[in-house]
Amino acid sequence: MDSKGRILLVEDEQGLIMTIQDRLVEERYEVETASDGQTGYEKALADNYDAIILDLMLPKKDGLDICKDLRQQNVETPIIMLTAKGQVVDKVLGLKLGADDYMQKPFEMMELLARIEVQLRKKKQSANSLTKEHYAFADVEIDFKSMRVSKSGQEVLLSAKEFQLLRFLVEHSDMILSRDQLLNEVWGYDALPSTRTVDVHIAWLRQKLEPDNRYPKHIVTVHGFGYKFIGD
Ligand code: CA
Repeated sequence: MDSKGRILLVEDEQGLIMTIQDRLVEERYEVETASDGQTGYEKALADNYDAIILDLMLPKKDGLDICKDLRQQNVETPIIMLTAKGQVVDKVLGLKLGADDYMQKPFEMMELLARIEVQLRKKKQSANSLTKEHYAFADVEIDFKSMRVSKSGQEVLLSAKEFQLLRFLVEHSDMILSRDQLLNEVWGYDALPSTRTVDVHIAWLRQKLEPDNRYPKHIVTVHGFGYKFIGD
């Protein structure tokens, strides 16, 4: 069976290494692990991975240094940073130093899997660098360049956030996206709104775009987790 990608996991908690590794392998990823920062850094430099899951607090070399040094060495592999609860300050710093995403422990494995998929998809997209300008589903047409949306030929007015949310959903069609992920990607890491904000905007998009917003067919709910966009 084909592997979905090669992941480097740099983490020093043995229990967590096993949990993450087992689950990733189950999902058909190839996984390399390193349990200290120096080894992790050397592996990331020496080999070509599709994504790196990087713990912040590590023996020998911490996650922030690894991240900074890898970017300095022009290693552009997507990095998802893991931090312990309460290290909120570090997330901003981590992103500044070149991490692509950030998750606070403890997290749901499903959340981590969803974020890995987004990073892999992003990597693929930038490799193609052919971003679609038009997209259509049901009787809705989206022009990403002019940011215009129409339904049955009639222009639909969307707020900037509604448009960004719609774009993110469409760009990640068929992928399960958590509320936290949507909040982070569309509203940004420094944003204060709660995940309730996501629900409200989803409801507005459905009202404006779904054929029947009581029974959404395109912007669907993934119970207890988030949403998924399904095209035609
Ligand atoms: Ca650690």
